[in-house]
Amino acid sequence: MPRNNGPAGAAEVCNAIRNLSQEKLVECLTAAVCASKQAEAVVADMVITTVSYDSDETRSAASDFDPDEDDESESDDDESDSDSVILVDSKGVPTKEQISGSKRKRAESMAVHDPKRRKRFEICKNCNEEFDHENNSRNSCLRHEDMKVVDTDSSVWADHDEACHGNYEHFIDDPVYADGFMWECCDRPSTSKGCKVSQHRA
Ligand SMILES: [Zn+2]
Ligand SMILES: [Zn+2]
Repeated sequence: MPRNNGPAGAAEVCNAIRNLSQEKLVECLTAAVCASKQAEAVVADMVITTVSYDSDETRSAASDFDPDEDDESESDDDESDSDSVILVDSKGVPTKEQISGSKRKRAESMAVHDPKRRKRFEICKNCNEEFDHENNSRNSCLRHEDMKVVDTDSSVWADHDEACHGNYEHFIDDPVYADGFMWECCDRPSTSKGCKVSQHRA
């Protein structure tokens, strides 16, 4: 039974939902989906997909990748990727432009239309980030596979005395001390976003 005092316009409703908690948003959306086939179709379009990119390939993110050599054929021939590397900046991080260019290319060329419906957005078990099956390519998931460790040779620690300044580990997520840590998997600086690249995996 409607409890409001008269019809609210779309603008008023949109304004009212803007500040809702996630719990309330879920409640509203669920109610809308249950009440209206049209709402169900709109929401389903946003959260359900039959598209997924599927490859078991995981590569090392190397430093001299040529995006123009990126080819469209590896879905047919997995071996064709064995020499390919990712274009990265001086810290070993693929640049945004290269990632998005590649993503776009892959999304267009590599998405597999699997008739199976699935949640469009899921949490990646590689990187723990939410990803979109409709925007997932072989270059989407960039991460490290080990932990950050102290780089005791870093000049950041030159005047650091653990006894009075605290253990190195206390500063592991402090951007000021970023140069004092590196990734155990690859010895790259702690600011490096990843040494392994693949698709996101649910
Ligand atoms: Zn690494
Ligand atoms: Zn991921």
